[in-house]
Amino acid sequence: MIHRYVVALSSLALLASACTVDGDSVNQWDVNVFPLDVEWQLGEQMAAQLAPSLTVVDDEAVQAYVQDRGDELVAHTELAERPWVFTVIDDPTVNAFALPGGRIYVHSGLLQAIETEEQLLGVLAHEISHVEARHSTERLTTEYGISLVGAALLGDDAGLLEQLATQVLTAGATAKFSRDDEREADRLGLVTLGEAGEAPESMASFFRVLLAEQQRRPSSVEQFFATHPLTEDRVDDVLERSAGVERVGERRAEPGLLEAVQARLR
Ligand code: ZN
Repeated sequence: MIHRYVVALSSLALLASACTVDGDSVNQWDVNVFPLDVEWQLGEQMAAQLAPSLTVVDDEAVQAYVQDRGDELVAHTELAERPWVFTVIDDPTVNAFALPGGRIYVHSGLLQAIETEEQLLGVLAHEISHVEARHSTERLTTEYGISLVGAALLGDDAGLLEQLATQVLTAGATAKFSRDDEREADRLGLVTLGEAGEAPESMASFFRVLLAEQQRRPSSVEQFFATHPLTEDRVDDVLERSAGVERVGERRAEPGLLEAVQARLR
């Protein structure tokens, strides 16, 4: 056990130093004992445990549409080399959430509620940023303590990872992120949108859809609001920040693609 602890600490040092290459990595100053490989294993484990409680939309075209839009954005993140899985689940409420290790879920109700593809990119950029900034595993590191998590993860007992996944899911897979995490996901997401050639304003545009839905049918957005506190002020703030974000090129949505997906979901 002592040996494992030492390994945990040295890998922590490695993580910290690995991030200083370009001087301003997303995770440079955050303490996280999870090596990326382990975070991806944890995501896989959590996805497997969550699967029985979800109904995946049985339509390859719908899944491919969201996966492709997600991959477009992921290409502009620091974790572009990792495999990301975007899954549309059959649920009429307007929600999206992220598990660690590049697992993003989008409810079919969200796809129905949006008016433009840009709004989809807006919400995907936000969720992708929670993963890129590694908010889940940062929080696990803080909650369970560096030595405990490090020892568990670097041991050869695969059962421990499974237990950890169960524990996190029981506590709520998409348990509320902190305000700081939300702000960081907004900020990072805007940059990703800009780098992908998408208008950074599309994130605020998506948030406006949520606020409108909250007026129209409050129960449909309850889950999203529980995990991502959203106020007019925050939307204004995101919109204001958008103005300062560089947009590289000008991505154009292929006309009719979102509408075709929406038709398949009806
Ligand atoms: Zn969020």
